Amino acid sequence: MFRNSIISKLWISIVALIVIVLLSLSLGISSLLEEFYFSRISDELVTEGKQIIEVINSEDDREELIEKLDILSNFTNAHIIIVDKKGLVEACNTMMGLPAGAIFDPGDLEKVFSGQIVTKTGYHHHFEAPMLSTAIPLFDGKEANRALMLFKPVAPITETINSMRWLTIYAAIGAILLASIVSFFLSRTLSRPLVQMNKVATEMAKGNFENKIDVKSDDEVGLLGASLNYMSNQLKNNIMELSHEKEKLENIIASMSDGVITLDPKGNIILINNPAEILLAKCIQQTESMDKIFDCLTMSDFKLMFEEVRKEKQMHKKDIELLGKIISTRMTPLFDNESKKIIGVVGILQDVTKERELEQMRRDFIANVSHELRTPLSLMQGYSEALLDGMAEDAAKKEKIISIIHQETLRLKRMVDELLDLSRLQTGHFNLNKQNLNVEDMLKTIEEKYKTAVLNAGLEFKMDIQEGLPQVKADHDRMQQVLINLVENALKHTDEGQIVISAFKEEEQVCIEVSDSGTGISKEDMDFIWERFYKVDKSRNRAKGGTGLGLSIVQNIVKAHNGKVWVRSEESKGSTFGFCIPIG
Ligand code: ADP
Repeated sequence: MFRNSIISKLWISIVALIVIVLLSLSLGISSLLEEFYFSRISDELVTEGKQIIEVINSEDDREELIEKLDILSNFTNAHIIIVDKKGLVEACNTMMGLPAGAIFDPGDLEKVFSGQIVTKTGYHHHFEAPMLSTAIPLFDGKEANRALMLFKPVAPITETINSMRWLTIYAAIGAILLASIVSFFLSRTLSRPLVQMNKVATEMAKGNFENKIDVKSDDEVGLLGASLNYMSNQLKNNIMELSHEKEKLENIIASMSDGVITLDPKGNIILINNPAEILLAKCIQQTESMDKIFDCLTMSDFKLMFEEVRKEKQMHKKDIELLGKIISTRMTPLFDNESKKIIGVVGILQDVTKERELEQMRRDFIANVSHELRTPLSLMQGYSEALLDGMAEDAAKKEKIISIIHQETLRLKRMVDELLDLSRLQTGHFNLNKQNLNVEDMLKTIEEKYKTAVLNAGLEFKMDIQEGLPQVKADHDRMQQVLINLVENALKHTDEGQIVISAFKEEEQVCIEVSDSGTGISKEDMDFIWERFYKVDKSRNRAKGGTGLGLSIVQNIVKAHNGKVWVRSEESKGSTFGFCIPIG
């Protein structure tokens, strides 16, 4: 924990500083002391030597001299030796017991006998100890024939210096201990708040702004802690505001009925709302990338549009066919405010399949109506012009022409009536006069009405009504209209065989079927027969006066009664048209 902390660095710095300062101080002081002591003692030794020389010069008796040297040796705490020019001991204090021979370096002796005073320190093998030695020449007249040598042990001086060195080491240890204690307390006041700040900042980075720093001091660290707390609050507020804004925007986009999809320049989806997901559902489940969505849907138009918007940096609008739907797509480039570079493309997708279908239906309807009206109108125009031009020579021809014009007028009227009826049914602008209806009675009336026509057409007419059929709530006239349409169709499309009307109860409904053994309907036509103006065989139908509106009217009337219609048919074998009406 402390390895990389400020405190550990501070501690190491303080300790290093203490060690360096005390070490250099100790070395400096000890060498200074050493120098000071040695120069002082050597000066003393020289002064003492000069005084001893005076004693030596005043004493002629050798025995007496040695005695005095003894006393002086004790007094000065130094060994006193007198040597001749060859360095041989002439006299010395009795304590010494020196062997005869040279005890001083010949080089140094030379210097001494040339008149110099030589002082030096070093280990002396005669005394087996480090000694401070001084050699002073003794003059007989003008010439120095002898030399006085004083040897003083240096042990007391080095001991003093060593104790001073030890003192420095103790002081260093004490200082290190003190530095450690100071560092420990500093870690509490300086490092701990910093560690806490680090924790809080890390939490802030993760999005947790609840942790706060406990500010205890008003120094720089305290101020930093307070600033961090303030920053945390500000950040929290800003992030909350931003997330509210984002939420608002997301809610707006999500509640839009149009699909919104935002893509980055590479085609990856950045944002997509629910309607867009539904529109692109199949592909989005499989992949996240627009490129792959293109592959998935093979919707080259979509990809082309995206590429165009990206290159031209302009809005594009197009209807695109996608998974059987027509989607009005508006793609707009998205720019970065500062760099003005394109950072994505926003697409607004609108499912306009129904609108486009309605438009197409309207166009088809107008074309169909015009087409259907044109035929009888042209016929009427042609025959009336023939009458005007006097082309009908006799009364019989005139009557025939007038009869054709009359038939076409009736056909035209029927068509216009049916169209109006269908329009009212589809727009809901009609009232159903619902009453309790006895299905059996109604079917019997139909039988009465068409019996002769069916027999005249050489067909058999059968009724198969389940006993005890309940009454239904329905509009009597509209129900009759449905049955008339179905029976007339059966009659029109059946050349031989039979027409059967059956009625039965199924769950809470009463169902009626009209079956014939006629031409039947092909599988391809089956899906379209309920559409307006749809006729399977146009020439045959024309001859039989069909408008292509009958089944559409049937379907709308049954729907208005909350019922359902169906057809079963096989080509050349016959058809069965049926419908059910709820009982209640
Ligand atoms: P239309 O007034 O021309 O009969 P409908 O809407 O009643 O128009 O019928 C649409 C088409 O369905 C007809 O043109 C006809 O070809 C076919 N169709 C209807 N009923 C039958 C049926 N019973 N048998 C065979 N085809 C039928």
